[in-house]
Amino acid sequence: MTAASLRVEGVTAGYGPVRALVDVSVDVPDGAVVAVLGGNGAGKSTLLRAVSRTLAFHGGALRGGSVSFGGRRLDGLAAAELVAAGVVLVPEGRQMFARMTVADNLRAGALGARGGARGRARGGERDRAWGGARARADRRAPAHARVHGLFPVLRQRAQQRAGLLSGGEQQMLALGRALMAEPRLLLLDEPTLGLAPMAAARIADTIREINAQGTSVLLVEQNAAVALKLASSAYVLETGRVALAGPAAELAVSDEVRRRYLGVV
Ligand code: ATP
Repeated sequence: MTAASLRVEGVTAGYGPVRALVDVSVDVPDGAVVAVLGGNGAGKSTLLRAVSRTLAFHGGALRGGSVSFGGRRLDGLAAAELVAAGVVLVPEGRQMFARMTVADNLRAGALGARGGARGRARGGERDRAWGGARARADRRAPAHARVHGLFPVLRQRAQQRAGLLSGGEQQMLALGRALMAEPRLLLLDEPTLGLAPMAAARIADTIREINAQGTSVLLVEQNAAVALKLASSAYVLETGRVALAGPAAELAVSDEVRRRYLGVV
């Protein structure tokens, strides 16, 4: 295993009585794009929550198995420590601060970044943390330049409220905000969901570019056609278990994947 590969081994997770993942193992080699496909309720978001230590926010828990990144166990870390370790989640539905400006949303992405405020901020520390995030974001010029290079529109709209952006632009902002933390691994939950085909294609191109710049990607998508084009390998989840796994090019021509996920009869 290289310095920045993700290894999910035998993970079982659920919400109360619901078993959402059963004995799931997934590898993301350093520098790769790996896709996770599956229908509604297959367990895709739960897998990203298990990796990003956010299960508890959703009333869930990891019940078995392990998650490690670059040989370091992640499953004992707090969510904020994970960002410092270089792993950043872009959740489904973008979840930006709609009333804040685009520029301030990007600054928020620097909070908890590697080399920044480590651990959780409490009470009055939060204000200081926010001031610190601004200062850090201003010092984070290479990340800012990278984000503006990938998404010139975010520079043009810097002073606009994030809630006024189009769906495609909001996804760009969500990606840009995540990149401000200078991640080594991005966890993307349905980045093309709800976007028109042109906007989805632009996001796919950008994910390819982000990866080419050296960031690994674990990509959860219902849009199997998009995901299999981007990824080098893929996993298909069905009712919480890995039903199929292999090189993306092989899965793209498998009868089962074509019939069930690519709409080919
Ligand atoms: P979708 O694309 O619909 O989000 P998914 O593949 O991401 O589907 P998950 O959201 O991981 O699937 O859901 C896996 C299972 O866990 C489903 O049975 C779902 O109903 C259940 N589940 C998900 N989130 C919760 C929650 N917060 N509380 C209880 N059960 C949940």
